[in-house]
This record gives sequence, structure tokens and C-alpha cells, in this order.
Amino acid sequence: MIHKTILFLVSISLILPATDFQTQVGHTEITKWQYGKKAAVSLTYDDSTINQFRVALPLMNERGFPGTFYIVTGAIPGSEYEPKFVGRPVEEIIAETAQIPTNKENFYERASAIRFLGYEGTYRYHNEAAGFYGNGELQKAYDIIDEGFRKVRNGEFEPSNGYHDELYNVLAIEDPSVDLITWDKLQKYAQQDHEFGSHTILHPWLAVMDSANIRYELEKSRLDILNHLGPGHTFSAECPFGTEDERVMKYAHKIFPALRNRMPHPWLAELNRASDIDPRTPEKEYVQWQRGPLSDTPVKKMKSWIDTSLEKDNIWLVLVFHGIEGVGWEPLSKDKLKEYFDYIKKHEEQLWVATFKDVTKYHRERMNADIKSKRSGQTVTINLTHSLDRALYRLPLTLKTYVPEKWKAAQVKQEGQTQGIEIQEDEKGAFIQYQAQPNSGSIIITEQ
Ligand SMILES: [Zn+2]
Repeated sequence: MIHKTILFLVSISLILPATDFQTQVGHTEITKWQYGKKAAVSLTYDDSTINQFRVALPLMNERGFPGTFYIVTGAIPGSEYEPKFVGRPVEEIIAETAQIPTNKENFYERASAIRFLGYEGTYRYHNEAAGFYGNGELQKAYDIIDEGFRKVRNGEFEPSNGYHDELYNVLAIEDPSVDLITWDKLQKYAQQDHEFGSHTILHPWLAVMDSANIRYELEKSRLDILNHLGPGHTFSAECPFGTEDERVMKYAHKIFPALRNRMPHPWLAELNRASDIDPRTPEKEYVQWQRGPLSDTPVKKMKSWIDTSLEKDNIWLVLVFHGIEGVGWEPLSKDKLKEYFDYIKKHEEQLWVATFKDVTKYHRERMNADIKSKRSGQTVTINLTHSLDRALYRLPLTLKTYVPEKWKAAQVKQEGQTQGIEIQEDEKGAFIQYQAQPNSGSIIITEQ
């Protein structure tokens, strides 16, 4: 036993020069977050109400924060796809409700149709049915649909003049003279590095809709975004009301590479807005922690989410904002938002403030990456690849490579690009931290 140990120590010392014994020169890791930061935060907004752009977005631009905005495309003038029911003529469905009570077989079609029957206020039956359905009270959901259609048959509703009322109802806009956002403006904001994503055409309760209508709401709102803003804004989406309904998720995951609703990965714990699980407790590589500040959420509480995220190294804080400065659901005041953004800015050295899309790409690329490192003389060569779709996943990753202790600075070359990098040190030795493009040319590291 003793002899074997001695032999082992002798052989190690033959392979590695004494000075590099502790450093493992060439050893390379992808840092957990971009730029080696300690936590990530995404600032996301739902419903595309006007003050998100007039009030919150300028505050973000002043601080260099990119945001993610889930937009209701049916609320944007000039969208090609208007909200509507997709299916049989509604007269047929209305007539049928006189003969056959609502049941498991016809519920989704009827709950879809009642949103856009052409009468004022019938959409409220869609909303109420969704409430019961969500609570598992199926018979009550069926009954409320029957009641709505009975009133339609009895002529109790006025003909509707469009979907304006429903739009303002679902977006919680109380003043009918409030402006809506325009595609021109969104194009300008998209150029400022903000991300846009679908929040459907008119914010329905997808869980009570049939497949044709679920797909219409998701696919056509995606298409309007694609046509107006380009393919950079069709990556992530949010289905309304934070639904996690499995039937809806199945359709939505086929249409969008990422959803804020659900993101099933073995390496990711997901804590939604309603969760009271401490984000410091899950034993996963990453924790996505969603928090949705409401009008009466104290700013002190909002700041504590930042502090908690910085206590570990694996938390991705996803903030979900709605109304801003009086417009929209549970609005936050400009002053509160400003104070909060200043607090985030103050911690920027440790916080990676990034769009939902970029953080998603980063952890997916990192978890699917392969690193090959080779040292030859005074040169370290790294090859960084990942197994994901190369057209979609092109976000640079941050690498940490150990280098000889005696280096004063390093030079990193990839595809004709050269970066001069300073040497840092941790308990394992001297290292450099730099940006690298996966599935691109070899990375050559030398002393500078
Ligand atoms: Zn919403």
C-alpha cells in the first residue's frame, strides 16, 4: 500500500511541472451566469399597456436594462389577425345548446365560441367558466356556459360592436380613452435590445378552449410579431393568467422554444408567482424564481427579492410586472419603480440583468455544452460546442480558464477576434474570464 502511494506521487510529478501542480492549467468551466455574475434577473411585463412603454421602458433605458414584454397583439392597431372564434358557424352551436346541455365533449368548443358570439358581454361567461374549470368545478363551468347560451337564445344581449370592451376588461384599463401601443413604437424599442413575445391575440383563458382556438391565439399572434418585429421576438411567450394547464402547455411548447409559464428541465427548479418555497432551498443547478409585485407590495419587499437572489449562485429572479402608473392591472407607481430599478442598478456588479430569452439560452447552452481543452507549451486551445439548434442558440458563453501563475495578462483569440484579458486568482489558482462563441472556431489562449 505504502509503495503504491509513493509510486503514484512520483508519476504525478513527472507529468506536471511543479509550478502548475495546483492550477491545472487549461482547466475550463462555463460560469453559471453570463460575465461570471452571481444571479440573473429578468424584468418581464405582461399585457402591453401603454405606461409600460411611456414610463417603465425609459427608466430601464436610462439604466441600461433590457426588458421582456409579452404583448397582446389584438390590442395593437394594424395587426393582421383579429380576435375571433375559429370553428363551425356560431348559429349552429347556439341552436345545439337548446338541445344538448354542456358536457365534457362540447365544453371547449362552447367556451371558445362564447367569447366572440357577436353579442355585448357574452365573453364574461367564458371568463366565469374558466374560473370554475380552474377550481376543478366542472359542472359549475358547464352550467355557466348553458346559462350564457340560454340568454343568447332569449335575445338578452345587445349586438356587439367589436372587441373593445373585452380588450379593456382583460387588460384592466378603466379609462376608455387610454391609448394603445403601436407597432411603430415597438419596432423602435426592439432596436433598443428589448425582447418582445406573444401574450396571445386577446388574452383568453386558453385552458377552456378547444385546440383550434388555442392554436389560433398562439400561432397568429406569433405571426403578427414575426411580421412586424422579426424572428428575434418569437423565442419566448407567456400564455395568459400564468396558466400551467398541461393541455395548453403541450400546444404552446410546440409553437415557442420557451414559455415563462413552464420550462421543464431536469436542471431547473421552477417557483411560480404563487409559490412560497424559499428559492434558496431547491437542490438544482438553477432555480427560476418568479415574483409579481402588486400595487400594495412594499418596495422593501421587492428589494429583499434581490438580496435573497444574491445569497446563492443559482437563482434566476424573474420579475412579472403588469400595470404601471395607473394603467393596467395592479399598477406600480413610477416612483416605486424608479426606486426599485436604482436598487437593482446598485447591485449590477453581481447581477446579470438580461431578457428572459437570453437567460433561457444561456442555461440551456451551458447545460448542453462540451469543452475540449488542450495545452501545448505556452498555448491553451479550447473548443466549445453545444448540441442545440445552432441557428437559434448563438449566445456567447462566459468561460473561466486556468492559466500559468506567472502570466501577467492573457490574449484570447477566436475567429479573428482578439481580447486582452486580465489575470484573476481564486483558491484553485490563476485564471482568466472571457466571452466565447459556441460552435465557432477554436479559442487560442496565450500570454500577452
Ligand atoms: Zn396578462
